[in-house]
This record gives sequence, C-alpha cells and structure tokens, in this order.
Amino acid sequence: MTTATERAGYPLERIRNDFPILQQSIHGHPLAYLDNAASTQKPRAVIDCIRRVYETDYSNVHRGVHSLSQRATDRYEAARCRLQAFLKARHSHEIIFVRGATEGINLVAQSFGRSHLKAGDEILITAMEHHANIVPWQMLSEQIGTRLVVAPIDRQGELQLDALIDRLSAKTRLVAVTQVSNALGTINPVREIIEQAHARGIPVLVDGAQAVPHLAVDVTALDCDFYVLSGHKLYGPSGIGVLYGKEQWLKAMPPYQGGGDMIRRVTFEKTEYNGLPYKFEAGTPNIVDTIALGAAVDYLEAIGLDAIAAHEAELLAYATRRALEIPGLTLIGTARHKGAILSFTLDRIHPHDIGTLLDMQGIAIRAGHHCAMPVMDFFGVPATARASFGLYNTLAEVDALMDGLGEIIKVFR
Ligand code: PLP
Repeated sequence: MTTATERAGYPLERIRNDFPILQQSIHGHPLAYLDNAASTQKPRAVIDCIRRVYETDYSNVHRGVHSLSQRATDRYEAARCRLQAFLKARHSHEIIFVRGATEGINLVAQSFGRSHLKAGDEILITAMEHHANIVPWQMLSEQIGTRLVVAPIDRQGELQLDALIDRLSAKTRLVAVTQVSNALGTINPVREIIEQAHARGIPVLVDGAQAVPHLAVDVTALDCDFYVLSGHKLYGPSGIGVLYGKEQWLKAMPPYQGGGDMIRRVTFEKTEYNGLPYKFEAGTPNIVDTIALGAAVDYLEAIGLDAIAAHEAELLAYATRRALEIPGLTLIGTARHKGAILSFTLDRIHPHDIGTLLDMQGIAIRAGHHCAMPVMDFFGVPATARASFGLYNTLAEVDALMDGLGEIIKVFR
C-alpha cells in the first residue's frame, strides 16, 4: 500500500535508505520509528557533514587568521544564511544560534522580558504549550512580577481563538504560542493570532519546534516577532537550534549571556557589546552541529516541505481511521487542523505499558506527559501514548502500530 504522494513520485524508498538507523531490527522486528515529535533520525547527508567538517574544516570560529579557522567561520556563517533562507527572514543577523527551542524562549524571557516588561504586565500563552513555553515565563514572573495568562482549549484540543483575543488586554506585553502542539498535534492559527496581537501593538513569539519539520514557514509573511526551533526535530543534530528575532527587537535587547565573541571591547571599567547576531552568541558556539543543521535544511528542501506535508497528512489520516476502529482507544487531540501526531489512550492499559509492549514489536512511540502536563490535566489523563510521523514513515508502519495495539489489547483482555 502506498500514499497518493508516493504514487505521484515522493521517493519514499530512497528517503528511507538515506537513514542508516532505520535499517535495523529491534527485538527481531524491523524498526518502525514513530517518535519523531520527540526527536527525528538523521540522514546520511547530516552524519557525513559532521564527519567531514571534523576531518577537514574544523577549528574555532571568528577569531582565527589561519585557513582552518577561516573555513570553519565561512561554513558556520553560511549555515546562518541557510537558516535565514529556510525561515525567509529579512536579515541573516536576525538568526541567533542557540541550543534549541527551549534556550530560544529562555533567551527572550530573560533578555526581552527583563528589559521590556515590568510588574503587572501580562504574557499570554495557550493551554496547550510545552513546558518550554510555560516555565521560562513563570520564572520571569517570580523575578519581576509579570503575570501569566492562559487562553483555553476545547475538548478537541483546539485553541479557543475568541477567548485568546478576549484576553489581549492593555496589560498584555507579549503573546507566546506554539504553532503545532506536540501533545495534541493541533495546528494553531498563528497568522490570525499575530494580526490580532499586532493590531493592539503586542509582539508575538511563535514556538515552531513542531512546525518546521512539517510545514513551510515564512517568518516575514507571518510577521512574528520571535520564532524558535530545535535542530534535532528537523533531522539535524541535537544541541543546536534557532531563535529568529526581528532586528528592531534584537537591537533593543541586552545580551543574555556574557563572555567571548559577544563583545567589541572589554576593560575592567566597561564592556562594549558586539552587534547582531554575535551579541547573543557568547562563547564558542556549537560549530559543527550548526553547519550540519544547514545540511539538514538542504536535505529537507531537496525533498520539498509541501511533498513531506502531503505524505505525512496521508499517514495521519490513515492512522486516525484505523485507530478509531480499535475498541477502547480514545484519541486525545482531534482538532480540524493537525500535524502528524496521534495521541491516544487505551482503556485500562497504562501508556507506559503500551510503549513497552510496542517496543517488543520493534515499534518506537512515546508514552508520558510529553512535557505538557497542563494538557494532560485538562483531558484528565496522567499520560498518553503518542505516535508521531516523519518524512520516512510508511503506511506499513502505521499498520504495524495498529496491529500491535490489537495484540496488546488481547493480552490485557
Ligand atoms: N516546544 C515544543 C512544541 C516542543 O515539542 C518541544 C520539544 O518537545 C520544545 C518546545 C522544546 O524543544 P527542545 O527540548 O529541543 O528545546
């Protein structure tokens, strides 16, 4: 069985061959890797890029006059331009390399938050945020007395947009919202949220960790003020990510960390900070993984995000259809617009048991609260099982998952 996208030329077999890790068995079964929302596997292009940089071009960046340092610097800065083009940012200096989405949000909370917000100001988030887009704002509240306001979701896991708009008050100083929920799969109407917030002069941060591997993103068209992503969810390395910020904000924000590279001149009396983007990249950066993130973006774009999105949408539609036939299975997150995430529970079977028993059949899913405990509380479950699809998954793997769930139900009957 193939998806219509495959029949139209989506090179699924070739793609699968690009991922060495997929060519293995787990407990005697072919691996079905369905944990892509947690982290994606890496194509050979990314793995080879890392090896090649260490073998041929590696040195510290920005400070060296020798050839290796210049080559490493050129490749590091080329990766910045690559990510600028990928996100369609206006300037390459609006691309700040950070460890991941989490660090990007913490940077905004500590730098923008502490310099632009004061006690009593409100930060508006949604009830479906990952802890990475909750806790940094709570820490800021503890530090300077800001208040976290939460826009509700409904039982389908959809954002109640009217309620979010109602909560945009004269005190709101920032809206921080996920584009795609990792726990529910919901795709949020971020463009509309940004328009509504901007109409009131309020900047918006978009958490794109779950969006960029699946949707083409244009930060200039979206007009968001900040956008964060994690490389490891984008078929790139872990420990590298991007904070995009509009030039006007980044210029007006103080450095987040101090150290080498983020300075122009240091004396014991006073330090003059460097310009963008270096002001926010203190210390030796994650040089090789940054370059490899550029390779991951090249790989994705060569396949095409629209084709990837179409293939994944078919996997999700098929998985949803089959899941609904399984007695005792409840889907958690049934929004109209969803990314390729299927969260569910099975009557009387703990999600951790589902995850362990599926692993015995070579199927990797995630079980837990998915770093979204408030979502679990809202749905009244301690955890869910979550299958999440990526560009290399097949309809046969969806079948393996659903057949596996059928076997588990028999064991517990
Ligand atoms: N935001 C969302 C929606 C996520 O799914 C995740 C990771 O699961 C994060 C933020 C945090 O990403 P990272 O742990 O890579 O910083």
